[in-house]
Formats: sequence, C-alpha cells, structure tokens
Amino acid sequence: MFDWIRKPRRRGHFAALDNADFPELKPGTVWLVGAGPGGPGLVSLLGYHGIGQADVIVHDALVSQHLLNMAPRRTKLIFAGKRGGKPSPKQTDISLQLVDLAKAGKRVLRLKGGDPYMFGRGGEEAATLARAGVPFRIVPGISAGLGGLAYAGIPITHRENNQSVIFLTGHDENGVVPLGVDWATVAHASPVIVMFMAVKHLGSIAEKLMAGGRSGSDRLAIVSNAATPEQRVLETTLNRAGELTDIPTPAIVVLGPVSAHRETLDWYIGQARSHVFG
Ligand code: SAH
Repeated sequence: MFDWIRKPRRRGHFAALDNADFPELKPGTVWLVGAGPGGPGLVSLLGYHGIGQADVIVHDALVSQHLLNMAPRRTKLIFAGKRGGKPSPKQTDISLQLVDLAKAGKRVLRLKGGDPYMFGRGGEEAATLARAGVPFRIVPGISAGLGGLAYAGIPITHRENNQSVIFLTGHDENGVVPLGVDWATVAHASPVIVMFMAVKHLGSIAEKLMAGGRSGSDRLAIVSNAATPEQRVLETTLNRAGELTDIPTPAIVVLGPVSAHRETLDWYIGQARSHVFG
C-alpha cells in the first residue's frame, strides 16, 4: 500500500505506465536510443520518455531537430555528428564521453538515427560502457531501412515477392565499398537488398551485383530524406543506377521487386514529387 508515494513522478500520461516495464532514466546510466528515421514521430514511447528526463543528450546529425526540441530546457545537447567527408568526432571519443558523463552522475541519453544497432555503431558504444561498468539500456528504433521504405510506399516484404531481405552497407570505415561483403553471393541471395550509405558508390556496387549475376533490369528505388517533408524517391533499374547524380542524402537504396508496390501504396506525400528516372 502507498507504494506509489515513493515512486518517481512520471510526466502526464506516463503515470499510467507505473506498473508496466517502463523504467526511469536513472542518474549514472546511459540509454542508447533509436530516434527513428526522419521526422519526430517515429521514436518509441520509451525513447520519448527518456528524452524528457535526460540531463544530457548526445546526438547524431541524422536525428530530428524537432525531437531534440522536445527535451527539457535544462537538458544539455551535445552534437556528435558523423557525416561522410566532414571532420567528425572519433568514435572512441564519443564512447568515452558517454562513460565520463555517466560517471559524473548524469542521466545520459545517446540519441542515434534509425535503430542504434543498424549500421549505427551502437554496439561499439555499448561495449565501451559495459567495459567501464556503466549501466546502459538499448531502446531500439525504427530503422530507415524499414520505416523509411514504408514512407515511400515500399513494403520490405511482400508475400508474392520475397521471403528474405538483405541489409548491407555500401561504405566501410575507410569510406570505400566494403570488402567484407561477398558481392557475388549477395547478388542472388535474396530478391530484396536494402543498402545503407550506398549512394556514393552506387555505380560500382551495381556493377559488382551484376557481375555476380543480378539482372540489370531489376528495379531499384532510392529514398532520400525519408519520412521528412523533403522526402524524394528516385526509381530506376540496376543497370542505370550509376548514371544518377546529385542524389540528396541521407538516402536508402532498395533493389528488388517490392518497390513496384509504390504504384498503389505511396501514401505519404512529402513536399517534393517522386521521380521516375529512365
Ligand atoms: N542506424 C540508422 C542507419 C545509420 S547509417 C538506421 O537504422 O536507419 C546512415 C544511413 O542510414 C544513411 O547513409 C542512409 O543510408 C540511411 N538513412 C538514415 N536516415 C535516413 C533517412 N531519413 N532517409 C533515407 N535514408 C536514411
């Protein structure tokens, strides 16, 4: 009885979750939170709750400014952006900063675009926290490779099209097409291949996939600024992917038949019109 008196007060309607598995962001801990792609509406309820409690938010470039604006005024915002080609903080520095902030007793929220573990280096940050003995929690997010496609009218699986999906990155830590990807195998391993960070080297990726036996006439769609008013979708075929220039980033690339469903499922109208190339 009266147990509720000792519990920290939750803001507004979060009080209804007092007996659910819906924890507080405690001092001295770090939450790695996925912000979802694009706009502010795609963060999880727990992620939003954490944003309302954080003393410090360490965030990436791809995180919605609208979401950051929802933090309390007292919350310190630290930008730890990593954008291709521009100077950015070293990964180890970011991880160690999270450790230092937590050890100073702060409620630390590390906000990353999409999902923290999908090509987001969240695992490296979590490993540093674990080694330092800092308690942490992962709050998964909606990846651009799922939600971003949904905003472009593309279901990532569709029963008549595919029973599997491949996620890959078109960019390794040295900024080149990853050697760790077995392109010849990947080329025919799944009808649908979703590619992150693939715009810069799209031409050479397309060549590798075609050299591995993938048909050049396969559909390819590129969703730029997914789930924002600036969303733009380019549609082409694999053999013409290398001809595209000035693709706005961030952009997610999807190869395979599922983008054909845009014809009926393109529900989200951003500011810009979609564009069919070629
Ligand atoms: N953790 C993120 C991915 C980080 S890697 C996630 O789960 O979504 C960064 C890449 O994600 C970008 O190069 C781009 O390929 C993709 N991306 C992130 N946000 C995007 C958006 N709003 N629209 C299109 N692609 C996006």
